Amino acid sequence: NADIAMYQAKESGRNNFKFFDNKLNHKVDEEMKIKEGIISAIKRKEFTLYYQPKIHINSGEIVGWEALVRWNHPHMGFISPAKFIPIAEKSGLIKNIDKFVLEMACKQIKELVDKGIRPKSVAINISSSQFNDSNFINTLDRIIAEVGVDPKLLNLEITETTAMQDTYYAKMIFEKIKKRGISLSLDDFGTGYSSLNYLKSFPIDVLKIDKSFVDDICSDQVNNTIVAATITMAKVLDIIVVAEGVETKEQLELLKMAGCEECQGYLFSKPVPIEKMEEMLIKQKFSKA
Ligand code: C2E
Ligand code: MG
Ligand code: MG
Ligand code: MG
Repeated sequence: NADIAMYQAKESGRNNFKFFDNKLNHKVDEEMKIKEGIISAIKRKEFTLYYQPKIHINSGEIVGWEALVRWNHPHMGFISPAKFIPIAEKSGLIKNIDKFVLEMACKQIKELVDKGIRPKSVAINISSSQFNDSNFINTLDRIIAEVGVDPKLLNLEITETTAMQDTYYAKMIFEKIKKRGISLSLDDFGTGYSSLNYLKSFPIDVLKIDKSFVDDICSDQVNNTIVAATITMAKVLDIIVVAEGVETKEQLELLKMAGCEECQGYLFSKPVPIEKMEEMLIKQKFSKA
């Protein structure tokens, strides 16, 4: 639509250009640049992965990690995934990013294991387009075989919204993933519309409560109650609950009281580069020995 608007503005003569919304124009330009950029970024290896630890609340131990993509653009500098992932999703390029991320994460996990450092579990985000691609499971199998990574170390994060698009299909893919020894997380939980019935039938290991609920858990009684009820329900279904985006001790205290087992957030650690992750894993290994 924006392209059409621009075309029409041009067609109706130079003088009409002033009617064209400059902000929109800028946004379209930027989107185009990002779209073109993604294609070459994969080739030029401008994407890297950062890893954010998941913490067991009661013991304080790191129980897993989440791989989060980062784009260091040569001219535009650091671009947040919140900005380029939605554009990549719209243009279908997200599948290329997902494949790249999956392969890179598997390779980095394998390298750690070969050095004698075992991350318990590393979560990788899978977009809706990738999840719904008929080649997804083949791609997954190929990458795991090529890299030689232990699938038990992998966890795949699928958003609640993606899982609910076609619950029959989702369940089938979930079962294939689980058969391979890979664990599953339902990401951004609470932002979609799950019915308890589906949650019961999905072979999900982890449920991640969306940051938006955690944000005002201390001030909003309704959100607080929703989070507490979600945790209670998950326990009945034998699903581990992770709270995402925990930033304060007060939030942590409330989550703990509600029976939440694991959390992730700046209070413990921001996403870190692989070298830092390795350092943290080594520290943990020696503190236990
Ligand atoms: P997500 O999967 O829900 O990831 C959590 C996001 O919250 C990450 O943002 C993380 O850096 C951020 N976060 C974690 N703790 C805190 C906190 O305490 N405070 C605040 N303010 N933020 C926190 P990030 O890395 O910018 O990623 C945003 C979203 O982009 C992700 O949400 C995910 O949906 C998507 N994404 C990131 N990496 C990938 C990827 O490799 N593939 C795909 N398909 N999507 C990705
Ligand atoms: Mg995630
Ligand atoms: Mg999440
Ligand atoms: Mg989220």
